[in-house]
Amino acid sequence: MANIHQFDVIVVGGGGAGLMAALNASKTARTAVISKLYPVRSHTGAAQGGIGAALGNIEEDSPDWHTFDTVKGSDYLGDQDAIEFMCHEAVQAVLDLEHMGLPFTRTADGRIAQRPFGGHTNNVTGKPVRRSCYAADRTGHMILQTLYQQCIKNNTLFYDEFQVMDLLLVDGKAAGVVAVELATGELHVFHAKAVIFATGGHGRIWEITSNAYAYTGDGCAITARRGIPLEDMEFFQFHPTGIFKLGILITEAVRGEGGILFNAKGERFMEKYAPRIKDLASRDVISRAMYLETRAGNDVNGQRFFYLDVTPETVNKYADLDGRTRPDGTPYHVTAAEIMSKIPDIADFCLTYLGVDPTRQPIPVQPTAHYAMGGIPTDKYGRVVVDEKNTVLPGLYAAGEVACVSVHGANRLGTNSLVDLVVFGKHAGLDAAAYANGADFTPLPANPTELVDETIARFQNGSGKERVAKIGSELRAEMFDNVGVFRTQESLEHAVEKVKELRERYLQVKVTDSGKIFNMEMMQTWELGNMLDLALVTAVSALARTESRGGHARDDFPARDDVNWLKHTLAWMNGDQVTLGYKPVVITKYMPKERTY
Ligand SMILES: Cc1cc2nc3c(=O)[nH]c(=O)nc-3n(C[C@H](O)[C@H](O)[C@H](O)COP(=O)(O)OP(=O)(O)OC[C@H]3O[C@@H](n4cnc5c(N)ncnc54)[C@H](O)[C@@H]3O)c2cc1C
Repeated sequence: MANIHQFDVIVVGGGGAGLMAALNASKTARTAVISKLYPVRSHTGAAQGGIGAALGNIEEDSPDWHTFDTVKGSDYLGDQDAIEFMCHEAVQAVLDLEHMGLPFTRTADGRIAQRPFGGHTNNVTGKPVRRSCYAADRTGHMILQTLYQQCIKNNTLFYDEFQVMDLLLVDGKAAGVVAVELATGELHVFHAKAVIFATGGHGRIWEITSNAYAYTGDGCAITARRGIPLEDMEFFQFHPTGIFKLGILITEAVRGEGGILFNAKGERFMEKYAPRIKDLASRDVISRAMYLETRAGNDVNGQRFFYLDVTPETVNKYADLDGRTRPDGTPYHVTAAEIMSKIPDIADFCLTYLGVDPTRQPIPVQPTAHYAMGGIPTDKYGRVVVDEKNTVLPGLYAAGEVACVSVHGANRLGTNSLVDLVVFGKHAGLDAAAYANGADFTPLPANPTELVDETIARFQNGSGKERVAKIGSELRAEMFDNVGVFRTQESLEHAVEKVKELRERYLQVKVTDSGKIFNMEMMQTWELGNMLDLALVTAVSALARTESRGGHARDDFPARDDVNWLKHTLAWMNGDQVTLGYKPVVITKYMPKERTY
């Protein structure tokens, strides 16, 4: 029999959202965090650019402008009530982080420094506004360290390197999770009144990605297997500036600091696609522009990459052309030393992986799979909702990248994920604790580890005719080529068939390592199953949506179609069958308009 533990609230995931949830839940309820990684190794630590909040420290700004920019950035698919809530809460959330000791970069007079980021504008002039609060180019790292220290200080309990493999639902309520302790291979049952999933994204299903190896979509796959729908999975963001071939992210902050994109002819091509804010247009717009430039033969060496130039000569020249000034009105002229101080980690990546010094040479970049707008459907208190009518499943919560509130709609603005983590992580934690304090434990099912036992036995008894690495690489290539920046009916049908074929072949996989201690072959096999599930839901949802909106661009349906498609997709999985449903978008103040930048 597995080890059994009992807690009021279980948080699955120790990244920004999970830690924020745990910190708030543990104030009033017995709370534990279960994480497959040591918490400070979570992907939140890779976030470079910053966290958006309308503090107005450097120039005029307002949470209402932030709200409108987010609605517009979402291509009008975001739920406006939730967006307004997030953008207004963002200001206090950043101040809370400051009070917890987060070492933000400062202005000369000691306030939190802010920089421009794609799609964040002054709503009167339409020009970029300085809204992103940052700690050099390691903002996420600082958030993670700060929150982890606070959790330790407040005696939050951690089960590190425990991987959750199943969710227990009894009588339509959350009852706990089943996890494997990686160091021993033993199963543990965590009996809980409330469960919060904060397991991050699933970008590893694409070949070129900025995402960590852990981004295999465990949370979405586990809940989908238990009959919970996934929302808006066709919307996945491709960030335009991944390092050529490697996909490692070059933060948008490089363009915020004045970097310019060029094609093979040396043209600043974004002038054509976003005449007003050019290189600071939203990510979907720039990734698509790169695709169109590639189609026109303007990519470098015919290899589908472009140059991002942040050398002082280029930054200063284009700052003059654009009339960009510093807050005191003087021309925006930078030195190599200033660039280095703003993006030290990026400079380090470029030198290490490319041998390129970004203060002297342009950086070769291409779109890289970056962020899941879709995920487990929730309301703004993190409560998981399971149908078109937003019926709440008692005791189940999700927050962070795994969740779809939806505040990012069809396309997330830079800096808005870190805001999402702290705002919705906090509310999920508070609500889960309040719920747990008013609820009884739901009895555990008779055999709580049944599904996990069956899964492990299947892996041990497979025929061994197929290998995880081979299926994984075929999956990633298929998704990148056919469910990537641009999609067509043909490419999506191809992907659906290919993923189904890979799912068949996956049943032949055998785990050859029979050991119990850190059996990573076993875990990677299980993770591949999660990725195959999410790939299928993504391709099927994308095939059905015959329009282009935000991160979902159909070559055969290039226009946004508000008459038929201003709605969220819900997808239920049952084996190879994906059933789709739809629910309306919440519109409060902003009627959908054409997006121009
Ligand atoms: C390179 C990069 C740069 C970025 N830069 C920015 C930025 O500047 N600004 C911004 O707003 N956003 C940025 N983002 C996006 C943002 O960082 C992420 O969306 C966000 O950090 C996700 O946080 P999270 O808490 O949801 O997940 P994570 O921080 O990834 O945490 C997930 C946690 O879940 C745990 N977990 C997963 N599966 C299991 C399982 N089966 N069992 C137990 N535990 C599990 C992991 O151990 C981990 O602790 C960036 C993303 C990347 C990849």
